[in-house]
Amino acid sequence: MKIEIKNQKDLDLFYRKLWLYKSLFYKKVTFETNNKSIKPIVEALNIKRRKQRITYIYDKLCKQIDDFYKGKNICGFKNGKCYVQQKLKNNYINGCCRFCLNQSSKGCTTSNLTCKLFTCSEVEKRCKIIKLEELKLLKLLNKRQNIIAKTNYFTKRETFINDLYISSFVIWEMRQLFRIIKIYIKIRLLKVSFK
Ligand code: SF4
Ligand code: SF4
Repeated sequence: MKIEIKNQKDLDLFYRKLWLYKSLFYKKVTFETNNKSIKPIVEALNIKRRKQRITYIYDKLCKQIDDFYKGKNICGFKNGKCYVQQKLKNNYINGCCRFCLNQSSKGCTTSNLTCKLFTCSEVEKRCKIIKLEELKLLKLLNKRQNIIAKTNYFTKRETFINDLYISSFVIWEMRQLFRIIKIYIKIRLLKVSFK
């Protein structure tokens, strides 16, 4: 099925019909388009297995954000301290990642969409940040998945993708709670072992 986009009206209509294109009615349909800006969405629609489609969307979004910030030290890290930590002159290092178990001496060991989306007011004052409207693939996620995408900090890529895949808020919140408890216990144990 060819999706012809000639003007803004066609584009708006396409976005409005996404819920339908994602549905079972289009399970056997392969989409094509003449419009470059919706190609990633069309590619995602052509992936018919739900988990594979979510993985594709997740990785594409992470890459789009990485490409946007490529080569820019947006948090102004100097000797491990970000703008905020330099300003506060405290003893902390590693910015927002300082409590996360996924950090390493070489940076983040995973790929977390929410963390990539986050910027504090200090960063926003100093540089151009990516806007949610630019991340068109988010339109393929439902409301629940969009909330998860914007709030699932400190989570490993594979777990994050599973959170998006599982269709239940309650289960996601339980998984979150379990992870927070795990992080808390590990931090306590680390503190004890460094005493
Ligand atoms: S987002 Fe702000 S607080 Fe977080 S690491 Fe960057 S400068 Fe520091
Ligand atoms: S998951 Fe997020 S908070 Fe943790 S190390 Fe990676 S970027 Fe930092």
